[in-house]
Amino acid sequence: MSNLEGVVRRQWRTDRTCGVVSGGFWRSGRVFRIWWQTVQTDAVMSIVVQKYGGTSVADPDRIKAVADRIRTVRDQGDDVVVVVSAMGKTTDEFLALAAEVSDDPLPREMDMLLTAGERITMALLAMALNDRGVPAVSYTGSQAGILTDSSHGEARITRITGERVKESLADGKAVIVAGFQGVDPESKEVTTLGRGGSDATAVALAAALEADACEIYTDVDGVFTADPRIVPAARKLDEVSFDEMLELSAGGAGVLMSRSVEFGRRFHIPIHVRSSFHDAPGTWVKETPMEQAIISGIAHDRSEAKVTVNGVPDQPGIAAAVFGELADAGLNVDMIVQNVSHDGTTDISFTVPRANVSEAETISKQVADEIGARSVDVDTEIGKVSLVGAGMKSHPGVAARTFKALSDAGINIEMISTSTIRISCVVKADQVEAAVNALHDAFDPPVISEEVGA
Ligand code: ASP
Ligand code: MG
Repeated sequence: MSNLEGVVRRQWRTDRTCGVVSGGFWRSGRVFRIWWQTVQTDAVMSIVVQKYGGTSVADPDRIKAVADRIRTVRDQGDDVVVVVSAMGKTTDEFLALAAEVSDDPLPREMDMLLTAGERITMALLAMALNDRGVPAVSYTGSQAGILTDSSHGEARITRITGERVKESLADGKAVIVAGFQGVDPESKEVTTLGRGGSDATAVALAAALEADACEIYTDVDGVFTADPRIVPAARKLDEVSFDEMLELSAGGAGVLMSRSVEFGRRFHIPIHVRSSFHDAPGTWVKETPMEQAIISGIAHDRSEAKVTVNGVPDQPGIAAAVFGELADAGLNVDMIVQNVSHDGTTDISFTVPRANVSEAETISKQVADEIGARSVDVDTEIGKVSLVGAGMKSHPGVAARTFKALSDAGINIEMISTSTIRISCVVKADQVEAAVNALHDAFDPPVISEEVGA
């Protein structure tokens, strides 16, 4: 008889002879699962994966409140894996610190610095849990076996081994994992996953552990039809599809990192975005919501800038030259518009993250010289407003209504791009709020079944 079986049998007998009612049932529940694991390799366990964002763990009191919440889950007999963000604004503070000592911090050292934020939270939370009688252990991304590629600052998770996580769960411990970080198995260097990356850690871990769902705890009640700080009438969505959430996140809705939504969609892990400040349900991001909305919401983004290359010769291969150079430099181009050609020349405008605009300008000027374009302009005072809804594909007239609402509000559209479930417009930065409100008024999302055609 293995040691484990011995423990299990003894425990089982103790429970029975003591005749413990609630505590006993809970213990036997756990013991039963341990026992099961020894005879069956595919253990049937229910694992809850939770992620707590920066505000939810901002100070010692909040960390203790989170520990209480985790204890409740454990008391129900579930295994818990908790992914944490850095406390409050720690990551921003670290970035500012780095800027004070260096004009161009080395990406490797930046990741060494930033990963420390989540490490603080994980240890404190494990301490608070142990104080509450919940055995807990914390692991860095690297210790948890979160493997990534090598790109510091924006690494992608390639695999999760999760060995120590699984071992600790089998030992009956609550496992706390530092979000936003991993390790490149080749170079052995630690990496970070990009801002908001703890969401990606959580959903990827939920997939690796075959959890039924992933809970993302945050400081808002869920996903809203627009940013409630801008649109007072914005409503919380009960459900939203992965596809719509991807468009909302890409459109600037900060509540979930896009990559976490991609993991959810790929591995069929429903994501429950909810508040850590109360118990009310939040928003379920899932495959097929019960009711498919026609218009789900409006996102906005002020983080991009527009670059225009004027007087580009209208010949084959020119766009390839411009965007080829930008891609080679690793720049993410979002929207692209090419004007109608006149006099054999045309203008090409595109948007890039504002943080990369000077690099984009330099490259564009070089290319402009090479191809004989006239000039390059940069506009940093722009914003993007995106209307998102899966029902758009089957409901004509949404685009017309979008443009009319903006024009009625006196807002000029500088660029337009669409997908089958999104219409995005670039407008002046100081008109973003007005644009979001105009669209929210015009559509009043979530629109479930009513006709929205113009
Ligand atoms: N602490 C990191 C950030 O502020 C990661 C996260 O919170 O998800 O971006
Ligand atoms: Mg976040």
